[in-house]
Parts: sequence; C-alpha cells; structure tokens
Amino acid sequence: MAEPSKPDYAYVNGEPYRAGETFDITSPIDERLLTTLPTMNEGAVDDAVLGAKQVFDSGVWRHMPKGQKQAILLKFADLIDAHAETLAQLQTLDMGMPLAMCQNKDIAACANTMRWYAHAIDKVYGETMTDDGKVTLITREPVGVVGCITPWNFPCMIVAWKIAPALILGNSVVLKPAESASMAVVKLAELAVQAGLPPGVFNVITGYGHSTGKALALHDEVRVMAFTGSGAVGAKLLQYAGQSNLKRVYLELGGKNANIIFPDVPNLDKAVKNSVMAIFANSGQICASPSRLLVHRDIHDVFVEKAIAIAKTLRVGNPLRECTTLGPVANKAQYDSILSHIARGREQGATCVLGGDTPDIPSGYYINPTIFTGVTPDMDIARQEIFGPVLSILSFDSTEQAVAMANDTEYGLTAGVWTANISIAHTVAQHLETGTVFVNHFGGGGIDTPFGGVKQSGNGVDRSLHALDKYCHIKSTIIQV
Ligand code: ADP
Repeated sequence: MAEPSKPDYAYVNGEPYRAGETFDITSPIDERLLTTLPTMNEGAVDDAVLGAKQVFDSGVWRHMPKGQKQAILLKFADLIDAHAETLAQLQTLDMGMPLAMCQNKDIAACANTMRWYAHAIDKVYGETMTDDGKVTLITREPVGVVGCITPWNFPCMIVAWKIAPALILGNSVVLKPAESASMAVVKLAELAVQAGLPPGVFNVITGYGHSTGKALALHDEVRVMAFTGSGAVGAKLLQYAGQSNLKRVYLELGGKNANIIFPDVPNLDKAVKNSVMAIFANSGQICASPSRLLVHRDIHDVFVEKAIAIAKTLRVGNPLRECTTLGPVANKAQYDSILSHIARGREQGATCVLGGDTPDIPSGYYINPTIFTGVTPDMDIARQEIFGPVLSILSFDSTEQAVAMANDTEYGLTAGVWTANISIAHTVAQHLETGTVFVNHFGGGGIDTPFGGVKQSGNGVDRSLHALDKYCHIKSTIIQV
C-alpha cells in the first residue's frame, strides 16, 4: 500500500502555514522520520488567535443561516469519510494505532461526531419566559475563540468531540494536537475548508506543548480552553488561565479505572474477554480503560487463568499489518515510562504472570501485554495511570471493600461492575465516584452519551448536547413589553 503524502505544515486561516523552526515527526513503528512540522512560537500563535477572533467578529460563520452551516458541517463529515483511508494511514504512521482500528473507530467516530452535531444545529433552542410584564430570552451565545489542546491516543475522534459542539454554536477554534499525532489533524483542517467552512474558523497550530500549547492557553483572546491529556498539564492550564484572562478551562484527564467482578458474574467468559480486550486495546493507551481489575477472591484464580489465555491470543507488531492487535506505544517517552512502571511493579512485590517485557522487534516502541497479580492498593501500579498494556489485578472479599478500593484514588473517570444481582449492581454504581459506570460490560457509549470525569479526572463532558455548555455563555435579555 503506497503511503500518503505527509503534511509539513500547520493550517491557519484557510492556508498551510510553514514559517519558522520545525520539529521532527518520527514513527513509533520503526523510528523513521516521517516529516517535520512548524514549531509555532508565541508570535505565530498570537497571529492565529487574532485571525480566528477577526473571523468571529466578522460574523461570517456565527451569523450564517443555520441551514448553510449544517450543510457545510455535513459535507465536512462526508469528506472525512471519503478520506478515511488516508487519514487512518497518517495516524497509524505517527502514533501506532492498528490501521483498521484507526479507520473504523477513530476516523469513523470523528465523521459521526461532526454529523451528529451538524444535525443538532437546528434542533437546539433557547428558552423564554414571561413575568411581571416582561419577556425574558435566555440564549446560548458563542464565547469567541475556543482553544483546544488534544492528545495522541484517539487523535481525530477527540478533536471532533471538542470542535463540533464549539463550531455549531458559532465559535472560532484554534487547536493544537499532540506532537505525536498531528498529521491527520492538520488534514482535518484542510478538509473543513474544502467543505466550505470560512477560512480562520478552524485552525490547527503545531508545536510543543510547553511552548505552542502554553502560548495558546495564555492568550487573552482565548475565552475557553478545552483539553484532554494528563493531570499535570491540566493543572498548568488552570494556572495559565489565572495568569491571563480567567478563561474557562475544561479538562478531561486520566483514570485508574476499577473493574469490579463479583462471584455471581452472569457470564464469566464474557467478563474475562471484555475486561482483557478493553485494557489492551490501543496498547492500553485509553484513559477510560479498566486498568485496575478487582476480582472477588472466590473466582480470582479461574479469572486470572482465563485472562492470561485470552491475552496470549493478542498479536503485537506492525500496526499496518491486518493481523496485528497491539501496535507500538505512541512515542519513546511513553515507552520508557511504561517500562519503568512495570519495573516498579516487580520491585514492590507484585507478580508478573504475563509479559512484562518487549517483543523481539528490532526497532519501534513495542511492549508485550502485561498482567500483574498480587497487587495491593498501596502499590504504584494500583495507583498511578500507566497508559500502557498493563493490567493490575487485586482481589476483594466484600462489596463494601470493593467499593472502598475502587474509590481509593484521586481519579474518577470510569468503573465497571459485573454481577447478576441488580440490587448490588445499582448500589455499587451509586457509590462509585466516577463519571461513567458500566454494568456487565466495559467500554463504549455513543456520541449521545456524555463522557467526562470527576475528582482529578476532570470537569465538564464531551459528547451529547451537554457538551454545548462548555462552548457558550448563557445570556438573559429582559424585555419590558
Ligand atoms: P500525554 O501524557 O497523554 O502525552 P500530555 O498532557 O503530556 O498528555 O499532553 C497532552 C497535550 O498537552 C499535548 O497536545 C501536549 O502538547 C500538550 N501540552 C503539554 N505540555 C503543555 C503545556 N505546558 N501547556 C500547554 N499544553 C501542553
């Protein structure tokens, strides 16, 4: 399969942007250089934001009739579908997700998200009320320029989760993708303009987080920052908001998600398979994945045995090959970090019952699926987000203990509960401090289902009409009649 041409530009104000210094994009598959992209400095970020603001103020997008906006966004979705293969290839090359997963999950979800919000454009209204001789209009107003900073694990889907609700409200967007996953995102901005989105409404700037991302988050004309990534960077974004214009900051951060298996689990084989596939999908680089498995002591040994058998069927290798289920992890920093978590698990006394090592592949960032048993709640591998193909298994004896263990974390993104007892399922779900609870399955939730975290997993939600709240302010216009 011929490789698609790789962008060597950012995309600003409806045009490729190539000025200034560049950084290298290398492939986690074999460490080869794929392209270089501009490292946009403060001045370049300032130009992009001011351009987006100018377009917002012109009203060309904000005041465009809804039907026209909808047609443009639907065409954008169609173009994403039409270019799905190229976008998926670019993404597999720069961040390592298996090609079929890129195309069928990430790119398909990106198009679907654009389409869903495009359809919502003429179905979302304001509110009115009358009282004491007055009519009050309660309207959603766009904020102006929305800044987005996105990660590399589901690059295009997460971009769409942010930009689609922001765009249907009439905002302009300046988005910085992760360094390890910028190529397909730059192409998205090009496709948006091809679909008829006015230049400058959706801009993709490229560069490092600590320079380009920081300049965006500090900018006084950015009114809302929407972020998905690590807690450490989320904390910085809150500081930048305090140091600049008190912009609103929405964070979707990490997770150390508990997946609780009770002994009366309705279908043990299904529970094992779903739990194992969910932690190892995308090489474990999913913030919502069930990385902490809490198994009732009565079924612990049989569960572990079955989990190992299923994990052994996974194939680590080149993500461009069809037979591969686990590609490389996204970059060298990630690779080193995961291996050091594995070493720490061993040091602290957990038992590595599968993997814990790297396959015999001469270059690239490959790690074998790894399972630890004998994990206790105080161990680092039970507390820290590893963001790699590592499953930590703990055991429990009572429902109360399981809930306490599950909540014994500063994270609060997702959790799973497996039991045939509806009363236990409901009670446990109620007590779990997470944004999402899965009962008798783990994973999923469509574009109509809110997704977000509590505690240090973040605030606000992506997906669904609730996401609109992040990208508008509510205005009350009180008319004396
Ligand atoms: P991960 O650990 O998943 O790579 P990060 O939080 O490090 O997540 O990165 C997520 C995004 O945040 C990336 O686009 C990255 O460039 C950006 N980023 C990193 N550091 C900063 C920073 N200091 N200011 C703004 N953005 C940053």
